Amino acid sequence: KAKEMTGNQYQVYTPDIENRSLETIRLENDLYKALDQGNEFTLYYQPKFDVRSNTIIGVEALIRWQHPSLGLLPPKDFIPLAEETGLISKLGEWVLEESCRQMKEWYVDGLTNLSVSANLSPQQFKQNDLISIVKRILDETGLPPQNLELELTENLIIHNTEKTLSMIQALKKLGVKISIDDFGTGFSSLGYLKDFPVDTLKIDKTFIDDITINDNNAAITNTIITLARSLQLNVIAEGVETKEQVDFLEHNGCYLIQGFYFSRPVLPDQFVEKYTKISNKKG
Ligand code: C2E
Ligand code: MG
Ligand code: MG
Ligand code: MG
Repeated sequence: KAKEMTGNQYQVYTPDIENRSLETIRLENDLYKALDQGNEFTLYYQPKFDVRSNTIIGVEALIRWQHPSLGLLPPKDFIPLAEETGLISKLGEWVLEESCRQMKEWYVDGLTNLSVSANLSPQQFKQNDLISIVKRILDETGLPPQNLELELTENLIIHNTEKTLSMIQALKKLGVKISIDDFGTGFSSLGYLKDFPVDTLKIDKTFIDDITINDNNAAITNTIITLARSLQLNVIAEGVETKEQVDFLEHNGCYLIQGFYFSRPVLPDQFVEKYTKISNKKG
């Protein structure tokens, strides 16, 4: 039994591999295949609104997997597996390529003030060639770097800070924007914040959820808003679902909002329709 083995031998039989369910093994296999063929993944785009001007300022690219037998899978069903197996680097590269290609298309159509955000997994961030990949994709698609934003989780910032810092600096040098996703869930990173050249804090949905009924979450949210203001960072709230939440946020100085209240993540055509409607209404 693996458990009884000692020393180096134990490393070979990792419990991970032994305990893998048949289902997981199949899914992993399918993931390999899908990455080879490359037409089962789709990016949905969720608009980000500025409630001051009532305009869309950007979109976040969110991946879905149209699995041949399981249907449309959300990221939680395959991103962790992709991270475990190392497939995330290839998948992440596809996300960057496709989101930049799509954003360039919209840019050419006149949506020059929009930016597209792509989520980066911590694993991707550990890749030494991440910078050259981002640079190549910007070159190949011709998307101006300021129209690309990369979302990093706060977790990543807390851990292995020195490497992270130089990585973020290199990305900033390319001209792309950086935001910290799910902000507030790892409060210990506050001290580092002043050293990291990031642009935006994205308040985690868990605080937004009961912002109007839970004083603690309201206080944390307001602290993040104040913090962002003093550090001259943008602040955006994610997972906003109700008018009451919008009012609370606006009243407390957070004007950038993303959530089902304004729009779910949608396919590119639906996004253009939405965007056009809003622009026309402003006339
Ligand atoms: P995230 O980056 O924090 O994205 C926000 C998630 O909240 C999305 O879920 C979005 O659909 C959902 N959401 C937005 N507004 C609302 C709302 O008002 N109410 C509710 N209930 N949910 C809302 P999704 O698309 O399932 O993505 C989940 C997570 O998967 C993302 O969290 C992100 O961490 C990860 N993810 C998504 N796409 C990618 C990708 O291309 N690469 C990587 N590495 N991770 C990704
Ligand atoms: Mg995100
Ligand atoms: Mg988020
Ligand atoms: Mg989140």
